[in-house]
Parts: sequence; C-alpha cells; structure tokens
Amino acid sequence: MASIGVAGGGIIGCAVAATLAERGHAVTLFEPDLAGLPASAGNAGILAVPEVDPIARPDMLTQVPRWLIDPLGPLTLRWRDLPALSPWLAAFLRSASPARAASTRTALISLMRRIEGDHRALSGLAGIVDPLRATGALTLYDREASLDTAFRHESRTAEELNFSIERLSAAEVRARIPALDGAFAGGIVSSGYQTFRHPTTYLRALQAHVGREASIIEQAVTAVRPEGRGVALTGSDGTAHRFDKVVIAAGVWSRGLLRGLGLDVLLETERGYNTTYETPPFTLPMPIFFADHGFVASPFEGALRIGGAVELARPEAPANFARARAMRTKMRRYVSALTDEGGIEWMGRRPSTPDSLPVISLSPTDPRIAMAFGHGHLGLTLSATTGRLIADLIDGNDPDTARGLAPFSIRRFQRG
Ligand SMILES: Cc1cc2nc3c(=O)[nH]c(=O)nc-3n(C[C@H](O)[C@H](O)[C@H](O)COP(=O)(O)OP(=O)(O)OC[C@H]3O[C@@H](n4cnc5c(N)ncnc54)[C@H](O)[C@@H]3O)c2cc1C
Repeated sequence: MASIGVAGGGIIGCAVAATLAERGHAVTLFEPDLAGLPASAGNAGILAVPEVDPIARPDMLTQVPRWLIDPLGPLTLRWRDLPALSPWLAAFLRSASPARAASTRTALISLMRRIEGDHRALSGLAGIVDPLRATGALTLYDREASLDTAFRHESRTAEELNFSIERLSAAEVRARIPALDGAFAGGIVSSGYQTFRHPTTYLRALQAHVGREASIIEQAVTAVRPEGRGVALTGSDGTAHRFDKVVIAAGVWSRGLLRGLGLDVLLETERGYNTTYETPPFTLPMPIFFADHGFVASPFEGALRIGGAVELARPEAPANFARARAMRTKMRRYVSALTDEGGIEWMGRRPSTPDSLPVISLSPTDPRIAMAFGHGHLGLTLSATTGRLIADLIDGNDPDTARGLAPFSIRRFQRG
C-alpha cells in the first residue's frame, strides 16, 4: 500500500482516485472547485465507443477551410490566440497523415474493447446503480453522399467493436423520432453508443465516493516536486504534502504542473458550448448527432442538452455564448419545437492533444509520477479504463500494461 496524491477532481481524477483507493492505497485528491462545472460535468453524457477515429485525419483536413470561414461553425479558432496555439496546430496537421490516423484508430480501439466492463466495475465499487442507458444514438446526414460514405466506414467500426448499425431513410427516421420534422437525407442508428442518466449527477456521485474512501483537499496543486523518497504536492495555501507517488489528472491545467517538472506536452483546449433545458420542450429516445454541423442533442433524465462544436482558444479566454445560440438556431432547422426559453448556456474545456490520444503514462524521468490527461472528446468514455490503467501502472505488476500503453506515453511529446 502506498500514499498517493491525485491532482484534479474531474471525471479522470475521480476515476483514478476511486480505483487506487479500491486497491488499498491511501489516496488524497486535490480539487479547488468541488461544486464547479468543468468539462466532466457539462459534457454530452455519451459513452462514445464507436468514436475511434482521431479528429486530425485526411478527410477532415479538406473540410477545415470551409468551417473556419464561418465564425459560428463547427470549428473555429480564436485568431488572436494563434501564436500560442501554433505548436499544437502544427502537430495536429502532422497527425492527419493516413498512417498516423490509422495507428491512432488502432490505439483507441484497443481501449474501447474494455470500456463497458471498466465502467461497470467503477460504478459498482462507487455504489452508483445503472448509470448508463443502452439508448444507441442516431447520426443525421444532410446529404445522401455523406450518408453512403459514413455507412461504409461505420460498418467497419461496428464489425471491429461488435455492435450493430442500421441505415434509415428520412421517413424512417421521422417515424422513430417524430420531433425531427425538418429536412435531411437520412441517418445511421448505432447500438455502440450509450447515454449516462446525467453526467453532472454521475460526477457528483463519484466525487462523493472519493470523499468517503479517500481524503479530499479543496485546493489547487501549485507545484509537483520530487523529494528524496517521495513526491511533494504543494497546495494553494503553500503547504507541501509528501506522498510515495502522485498522479497528475487536472485536465488542461495539467500542462502548467508538467512545466514545473521540465516536461513538454502539447495540450490545448478545444472549447465546447451547450444549452441545457431542465424542462425539455420535447423528448428524444437517444442522442442525435448532426454530422454536418458538429453538435449533438443528448436526452438525460429530466434534461436535454444541445451543444458541441470546437473552438480552439486559450483556456482563460472569455466565453463567446453566440456559439451556443448558433447551435440552437441550427437545431431548429431539424426540430421546429425547440425554443430558447429555459435554456442554460455553458462553456467547457476539452483537454486535447493534437493526435486525439490521451496521456496515460508514467513520467520518463520519475516513475513515481503518473499522468492521466488529454482525453479531448472522450474523457467520460475513457474515464473508468484510464483509472484502471493508471492503477496498473502505479502498482507496476503487469509489464504488458506498460507495453500496451506505448501509444499513450508522454514520451511522444519529449524532444531528443
Ligand atoms: C461540450 C462537450 C461535450 C463533451 N461530450 C462528451 C461525451 O459525450 N462523452 C465523452 O466521453 N466525453 C465528452 N466530452 C469530453 C469530456 O468531458 C472531457 O474529456 C473530460 O471531462 C475531461 O476530464 P478531466 O477530468 O481530464 O478534466 P476536467 O473535467 O477539466 O477536470 C479537471 C479538474 O481539475 C481541477 N484543477 C484545475 N487545476 C488544478 C490544479 N492545479 N490542482 C488540482 N486540480 C485542478 C479543475 O477544477 C477540474 O475539476 C465533452 C466535452 C465537452 C466540452
């Protein structure tokens, strides 16, 4: 048994802390804002097993110029942040080669095979009953040609990950989901997706479990420092707490903590926006992805959330809620019943690497320091699996784990 400090109480830090506590370690979690709404609380709540293709890929690059022209489109860049973002963007473009995109896909598939079992284990140990609903999801296409291409591609993924997909005409979609009364070509229903009953409730339940099984210090970590036989985490009140081992799991803020250790990482925020309706104006049986517009409508228990899109910007830049409004306006083309009343707008920061792979790794300079961040669009999906893998790395009793995790190593960002 070791004493372990974990920096960050979002979904990743909590999954790591809960798994380590279950294995008998004495865990202390640092989180400055337990009541806050980070990405882990405001996300779309989807267990997105089919999403194994990186954001940077050859077919995506051809669409980028068109998207960037529309300031409220699915992908925008805060131009004044361009100098700060350019190393990340350069690496993003390099990652879009066919060979790199294919190896990222293989790496993500290897994680996705274990996702469901890991979530069952994590929610079981935290006493969270049935957090997931087997809703499947519908992806809607405006054009027949893109529906054809997507169906071919999704058929391959479905075969590899053992779920089913179904191609529907516009009339078949409307028969299943009457709220969709606008114009579109058709859609694909995939059984590979599941929906959390409510992602905020899920995060709070996991935080409460960590509060029972571990200690929580409601402070930010300001420094990570190896010290003799241990590693010290300094809290925002200036107190240094010494542990046998530590885990850095503070979303995009992990970057600053690594800098203090002299380690480079290309981690930026893909910010996303959404609107949540506590009294939904209509109901949906499953999440609906609007493929041509980069957003999704997710039905939760007692709520509906509409949002997504990507805004590349520094984490601290002011929010631009016109982006949340733009997605509601677009959604009304498909669902005329959508109103503006009663919606609560939100902006969140996906902690993203340029190659769409998280960092699940031990430090190359000090194996007492583990890292779990950079989960981008998939942090909720990958949280339980990340918790298990980090605990395996820390316990160090399975050499295959370390070998299998090579694609997720921090080493890919180190120079020399
Ligand atoms: C619009 C949107 C929709 C999404 N939809 C989905 C989805 O449907 N499915 C899915 O799988 N993923 C989804 N994601 C992605 C997912 O939400 C993120 O990948 C995930 O929440 C990242 O979790 P995290 O714990 O790493 O980071 P965060 O949620 O950002 O948590 C980091 C925590 O660290 C704390 N912290 C900050 N600095 C420090 C410090 N110095 N010391 C200690 N703690 C610190 C913060 O207060 C915060 O609580 C979505 C994201 C967005 C924005």
